[in-house]
Amino acid sequence: MNQVLNTINGQQVEPTNGQWLQNIEPATGSEYGRIAGSGADDVNLAVEAAEGAFSAWSSMSGSDRGDCIHRLADAVEANLDDLARLETIDNGKPISLSRSLDIPRAVTNLRFFAEASLADRTEEYETGDVALNTVLRQPVGVVGLISPWNLPLYLLTWKIAPALAAGNTVVAKPSELTPVTAARLGELSIEAGFPAGVLNIVHGTGPSAGEAIVSHPRIKAISFTGGTSTGAHIAETAAPHFKKLSLELGGKNPNILFEDADLESAMATSLRSSFANQGQICLCGSRILVHRSIQERVIESLVEGARNLKIGDPLDESTQQGALISSSHRDKVASCVDSAREEGGEVLCGGRCPPSLPDRCENGYFYEPTVITGLDMEAKTNMEEIFGPVVTISPFDEEEEAIDMANATRYGLSASLWTRDEARARRVSERIEAGTVWVNCWLLRDLRVPFGGVKHSGVGREGGEEAMRFFTEPKTICQARSAT
Ligand code: NDP
Repeated sequence: MNQVLNTINGQQVEPTNGQWLQNIEPATGSEYGRIAGSGADDVNLAVEAAEGAFSAWSSMSGSDRGDCIHRLADAVEANLDDLARLETIDNGKPISLSRSLDIPRAVTNLRFFAEASLADRTEEYETGDVALNTVLRQPVGVVGLISPWNLPLYLLTWKIAPALAAGNTVVAKPSELTPVTAARLGELSIEAGFPAGVLNIVHGTGPSAGEAIVSHPRIKAISFTGGTSTGAHIAETAAPHFKKLSLELGGKNPNILFEDADLESAMATSLRSSFANQGQICLCGSRILVHRSIQERVIESLVEGARNLKIGDPLDESTQQGALISSSHRDKVASCVDSAREEGGEVLCGGRCPPSLPDRCENGYFYEPTVITGLDMEAKTNMEEIFGPVVTISPFDEEEEAIDMANATRYGLSASLWTRDEARARRVSERIEAGTVWVNCWLLRDLRVPFGGVKHSGVGREGGEEAMRFFTEPKTICQARSAT
């Protein structure tokens, strides 16, 4: 049976409490391994190891740290096919996506921040001829990194890479639903010659291992990606310890199509932004707002596209829609669609589990891509994150109305808008309440730009220099000029 072990102090170890969790393959509903069900004692061991490694790691040159992180990137790249297969089995996502997006992006994350570790971020300010202020950027210490199940290795490396590049040592906890590639990353870090204790990965549930990290008095910063309500709980737990906090939370992102949009391009991308990874990407555009004059064409195109997406075994190369992460999540998505019906929504396609699946997948957690119309913007379906293959389409008449509708939820992660009018694109972008606005595109990512949300979508930014700032503390040394 596959075992997911902790990586602590450069070793693969079992949980001290002897507890194990089941690992279920979402595409089959079957148990295929067991996961360390770690608790506070394991987190303590990880913190001790990370503290022990901190002095040497933080005083290494940026270039030596960068070399180490590049070696890990090399190892991930060399194992790309194997990691893609593991990710697909663990998560239920199509193998084509794991291979083209998840694992390559993990490599890119590591390489990008390996390079970022080279820069000297020290600033100097002369106060006339009175003093010289030198601002150092020092690593924070031992940091806690908690990541979700939807893009497991991708989002974990998005945190690990900058934390290590900045000179911190790490205690990371991936989601218990998708721990396998993180466990493999731990093994690869040992093979790549990481000093023991620099990268510790502890597996277990949120309330057990996660809570122990967030409340640990010697973990100085928490970088968390996950749901908004978990984020609120983490903020509450961390506050009395005055930890640095970065929270990347949920979204209910608008995808706005104006009447002058290039519809061919808009609809090809909207199909992806609606249903990629079964709609389980925080950046998916789950509310499609469309100018009334093109509404019929948009509905027709999206419904046809959704019906043609091939649902099937995620390990099959031709599959476009895999399984949802768990039976409880599939049931939650189904109940959201039921409540959309009760609210008066019309389900134009999907709205059910697929009637036939390959034999191996008969008990898997699949749900058809679903398009719903006829709901007010205030409807619960338009307000709450579903995080599944479900989108609504709502018409607008005026630009002002589109902006109001886009801003109507408590979330503010990202938005897309489609128009050929550059002045309008800029005007509307400036007024949308979101951390990222994509114009005539979606999910185009440059790792140098800030990434994060406003309102209930989060606090702080990841990416590029923002991440390096989060994982360092500024220290000002003000030195008086000696009188001559
Ligand atoms: P959760 O909030 O349920 O879990 C996220 C992580 O937090 C998991 O590792 C989980 O562990 C852990 N966790 C749960 N409870 C606690 C706790 N009390 N203390 C510490 N850690 C805890 O989110 P999901 O995994 O369900 O992910 C989906 C959500 O993530 C969606 O809302 C999505 O929008 C959001 N997300 C946001 C992104 C962004 O960049 N803004 C990107 C991707 C996703 P475990 O699973 O083991 O219980």
